Amino acid sequence: MSAIRREHLLREGQPPWRQTEGLLTECGKPIVGSRDDPTYNGATVYTRAELAAFIREHGQRRAVLVYCVTCVDAAQRWKEWAEDPNSCINRESGPYAPTAETLRRELFALADLVRLHEEEFDQLLRARDETINLADRRREKKRQGLM
Ligand SMILES: [Zn+2]
Repeated sequence: MSAIRREHLLREGQPPWRQTEGLLTECGKPIVGSRDDPTYNGATVYTRAELAAFIREHGQRRAVLVYCVTCVDAAQRWKEWAEDPNSCINRESGPYAPTAETLRRELFALADLVRLHEEEFDQLLRARDETINLADRRREKKRQGLM
């Protein structure tokens, strides 16, 4: 009996600094290639956007016939980095995450990088705080009906 082939999805909620080493499918299989051209076991690995387009055209039921169910569940449960980095780090560092050791090494390297570039790091943090403050002010004006 041959196994039914299912398409896998790229785990897009991975830290953005991970471009090749440590890239995985949503279900935890190692990716060969890069984020732009990911493959697993010689087959194309699809993106969340491609899954969403498939579901719009064919529906959720057909999607689980074509795509790996674990990949589909994970893609719909875990957020992407840009949406929520905390969700990403929680997933990557969980007790059953195959990437926990990779993330540990990366965090040590990031801390070293910050130590080497403390001034730029502080500037980037201040710039983010200012962006957040501007967004808060806009929301407050909108709430007061001034915008
Ligand atoms: Zn999968």
